[in-house]
Amino acid sequence: MSSVAPLVQYPIPCPECNFYTSNPASVLLQSKTFECRRCQHQQALNDKQLATLKRTVSHLQNCGLYQTATTDHADAESSESFA
Ligand SMILES: [Zn+2]
Repeated sequence: MSSVAPLVQYPIPCPECNFYTSNPASVLLQSKTFECRRCQHQQALNDKQLATLKRTVSHLQNCGLYQTATTDHADAESSESFA
């Protein structure tokens, strides 16, 4: 099992206020719920959203975008730019 899911920020629109809240894909896949950052509405992901989320994660794993972004490159640069 690959590990891009914790790195993917997946935005979900709130059904109450339409505000998009991003959560790590791995958290969404585990909890199957999300909380709106604006109105704190709690919402369970429906089957369609879950299916799309899984497809997105698997696509990102296969295309390798996140793999290149998260190897050596990340450690070296992030500590400096956030210091
Ligand atoms: Zn909301």
